[in-house]
Amino acid sequence: MRQISNLQLMLTRRCQLRCVYCPIVKRAADMSARTLDRAVDFLFTSSAESLRLDFTGGEPFLRPDLVRRAVIRAEKLSAKTGKKISFYAVTNAIALKRELICFLRTRDILLELSLDGGRRRHNRFKRPAAPGLDPYVRTTAAIEPLRKAGLKHFVVMVATPENIRSFDSDFEHIYRLGIRNFDINYALGCLWEREALTGLKGAVARICVTHAGELRSGELCLGNFGKRREPALLNSEVMVDVDGSLHAMSEWMFESSCAGAAPPFQLGTVYGGGTLNGITMNKATAYYTLLSVSRGNARIKSIIMNNIKTGISFSTFVAGLKRRLFPDAAGGVE
Ligand code: SF4
Repeated sequence: MRQISNLQLMLTRRCQLRCVYCPIVKRAADMSARTLDRAVDFLFTSSAESLRLDFTGGEPFLRPDLVRRAVIRAEKLSAKTGKKISFYAVTNAIALKRELICFLRTRDILLELSLDGGRRRHNRFKRPAAPGLDPYVRTTAAIEPLRKAGLKHFVVMVATPENIRSFDSDFEHIYRLGIRNFDINYALGCLWEREALTGLKGAVARICVTHAGELRSGELCLGNFGKRREPALLNSEVMVDVDGSLHAMSEWMFESSCAGAAPPFQLGTVYGGGTLNGITMNKATAYYTLLSVSRGNARIKSIIMNNIKTGISFSTFVAGLKRRLFPDAAGGVE
């Protein structure tokens, strides 16, 4: 059984954006400092030697105070227990201010930025929660400060059946912004017909052929060629909601589509006295969780099965592409 070594903290359910594929239900609810402390302590109940604290939401950097507090507490526990600690944040970077960048630059943190392409395309999928905010301008403005500060970051491009046709040109746009670390994700929670999946595979193949030299030299990195576990839908992690309840992350993939349904599987709470070691999380439990989320809804069930098949098909294709293009598996493709 794989030892759980990371914990996702949903610091807030607020976000400045309303991305069309985002499954998280937004509301004005933040994690309290007390719950945050308990969540950080809970991570250190894992017997793994290297731990990772993940900041997510909503937009986690809307609460920079909580990020700082969690980092400082985790570092103290790391020094006390001898366990290694690293950090990860999923962010739109809109609220990422200079002070927080300075605080984070000395830490072992990796930032996941989501970009969908040029301004028109990005803003079509990433809509502002309130008028007057240009999501593309605000997110791309963060790239240079991050680079200058030396903060590790990569861009996740979310492919949807609707944006496949422009996927190559969207990739090139982001590449021209200077980004050299990418992950290409297929959107979960929607139906992937054969034609759309074929389109996605074709786009990824063209991108890899165009940039084969840089991928070989390691100048360009595609996370899909690394050690990803697929299908992504069954690759569940443990998440702490704003109220301190513990959940399998898969639940949230369908939170919006199953609106009104309470999460079926509370794995406990950070106040319950349990340990991270006591939670079993594997593909089978993730699958069981998802079926419970669907509550007999035939449409949701078919999307779950479709997303699992899509993940297997896409990852098999990417593995084959890697073998064909890089038989010696050198440089950035490792
Ligand atoms: S930025 Fe993230 S949390 Fe906010 S709406 Fe988009 S995907 Fe959801």
